[in-house]
Amino acid sequence: MPAVAAYAAPSEGAPLAPTTIERREPGPLDVVIDIAYAGICHSDIHTVRGEWGRQHYPLAPGHEIAGTVAAVGSEVTRFAIGDRVGVGCLVNSCGVCAACVRGEEQYCAGGAVGTYGATDRDGTITQGGYSRQVVVTEAFVLRIPDAIPLDRAAPLLCAGITTYSPLRHWKVGPGTRVAIVGLGGLGHMAVQLAHALGAEVTVLSQSLRKKDEGLRLGADRYLATADPETFSANRGGFDMILNTVSAPIPLDGYLGLLDTNGTLVCVGAPPEPMPLRTGALIGGRRSIAGSAIGGIAETQEMLDFCAEHGIAAEIELIDASAINDAYERVLASDVRFRFVIDVATI
Ligand code: NAP
Ligand code: ZN
Repeated sequence: MPAVAAYAAPSEGAPLAPTTIERREPGPLDVVIDIAYAGICHSDIHTVRGEWGRQHYPLAPGHEIAGTVAAVGSEVTRFAIGDRVGVGCLVNSCGVCAACVRGEEQYCAGGAVGTYGATDRDGTITQGGYSRQVVVTEAFVLRIPDAIPLDRAAPLLCAGITTYSPLRHWKVGPGTRVAIVGLGGLGHMAVQLAHALGAEVTVLSQSLRKKDEGLRLGADRYLATADPETFSANRGGFDMILNTVSAPIPLDGYLGLLDTNGTLVCVGAPPEPMPLRTGALIGGRRSIAGSAIGGIAETQEMLDFCAEHGIAAEIELIDASAINDAYERVLASDVRFRFVIDVATI
């Protein structure tokens, strides 16, 4: 395979810049994908800035990948040239541990291989979707339903599955009172998905700035966390709270919003620790939990669910030259609701 054009961070904290990366020679089980769109996830920013630990550079991030199949290996059975496909946060796993056998490759005991910045099973360091092509083993390639435009599908591969998986795991449906904390990339998918699952949905955002959009996406209520009244008037008012915030939040206050037996599920992954008083859990037999993306089968289920319910990401399509500016806007909570890179501009 020739080197492919990409945008990568040359070193920790440095702005992303055009470069080339190597892709492996496709093997019999590999699918070669021409990438059309790549979403910008807040995890890309945490990672390239070294907030989650040291990385290998140059690092091309991007794990919300949508495109079409350019070539397939001789043993590939499920995909053909021209198919509309996606790749999310995982590109490999051991395939034999209990988690993999259950279809929860994200919890692979042998170590799931992330789409970028991870050591693949052949020893190479993976490179992500801010690039023109990717080579992925067939088992980790998703089919994008025709009903979803490719650019609006890309963010489903991370933001969609990361919110769908906990909503399903905690059995959110009619009668469930759910609060979504943070209306960013993950949050705006969570609102649409929880609404489509039949739940009563409340957005807890820093301010009321995005209230109209939140209600349009399917929220029943929209409350500002900057207003202390939000916490006093809604004590015990939720069965589940899904925290999508990329920064630490005062957990005790949010736990007080849970009814007895309620669960606060964290998917937001700030590098800093968050203090917690156990009294906030004990008082209502409340739980705090976490959830990581979702397995491959569940990701396909989510894509099909979105197609069936007319759900997709709300995006701002950008040229690759605007990636660094987009990062600053994400950090300022100034995104409606996902930046997606037009990969043809790389
Ligand atoms: P995002 O688009 O930046 O959204 C985060 C939202 O959180 C913001 O839009 C903002 O919403 C709110 N927020 C930001 N800073 C805040 C602060 N200091 N206090 C209170 N609220 C704040 O990010 P994202 O791409 O959705 O990702 C969110 C987090 O999830 C990141 O930490 C990311 O790494 C993590 N993540 C985890 C997984 C997983 O598998 N668990 C997968 C993907 C991403 P408002 O303006 O509405 O307040
Ligand atoms: Zn992500």
